[in-house]
Amino acid sequence: MEDFIQKGTALDAVEAGAMHIENKIDCCVGLGGYPDRDGIVTLDSCIMDHKANIGAVAGLERIKHPVSVARKVMEKTPHVILVGAGAQQFAIENGFTLESAELSGEAKKAYAEWLKKSEYKPVINIENKKQNGPFAPNFFEDGTANHDTMGLVAMDAMGNLSGAVTTSGMAYKLHGRVGDSPIIGAGLFVDNEIGAATSSGTGEEVIRICGTHLVVEFMRQGYSPEMACKKAVERIVKRDAAKAKTLQVGFLAMNKKGQYGAYAIQKGFVFSVKSNNENKIHQSKYLI
Ligand code: ASP
Repeated sequence: MEDFIQKGTALDAVEAGAMHIENKIDCCVGLGGYPDRDGIVTLDSCIMDHKANIGAVAGLERIKHPVSVARKVMEKTPHVILVGAGAQQFAIENGFTLESAELSGEAKKAYAEWLKKSEYKPVINIENKKQNGPFAPNFFEDGTANHDTMGLVAMDAMGNLSGAVTTSGMAYKLHGRVGDSPIIGAGLFVDNEIGAATSSGTGEEVIRICGTHLVVEFMRQGYSPEMACKKAVERIVKRDAAKAKTLQVGFLAMNKKGQYGAYAIQKGFVFSVKSNNENKIHQSKYLI
């Protein structure tokens, strides 16, 4: 692991971190995640490197590692986002295996329960405790999952920054809905001169303010990562304070000096940090 930290690239690190969580079938990101309201797991992911190369997939079904498909989009195509059936076709053509469409045991149970009322209601901070990994913005105390995203930002020994995001999106979303996670500037943004940021929570609110791009721009103005995240959270809350009380959004950022920070609307947003000096889970500060 030390070798990996010292010699690998940030791009490889964020992909590996995202793959780690996508591999878990009893979790909350990847094919083990909760389905949309039609009972289908659709995955969103993006990746961005220090040269502003970007790749993303949205609404990808039955492929285990959307982050790696996103990386292939970045490295092998002239495009930046592939969606739905086209993303799946591209993945298969590039050697990814088509996995079963069956829901994981946990997700199957939760979906059956949800169908009784079929009510779309994002619930604050009920992400699955088992979510884990380097530079991860969420894992929580409660046992069940509703919204669930893994966002990672990393800096390598060359001082280069990269980031990746992977998610099954909001549980019970409309089929075809795309959140912030695969949208560069919303769920993830990297500017190798300034810093990198990622987000988790109600994607619609993050997209509305181009959340992670905003965080990076605040860092460009001289704000610390934590203050930059706070100012982006304030932007969401200012628009509709009553609505914000019912939502969770959290931002996580790191600047070029390797300083990091996070801020959320509500209590409960947690992130982990792994470096040569630290291996720790942090509670993010919050506004409400
Ligand atoms: N941001 C994700 C989305 O809106 C969900 C989450 O982070 O919980 O799809």
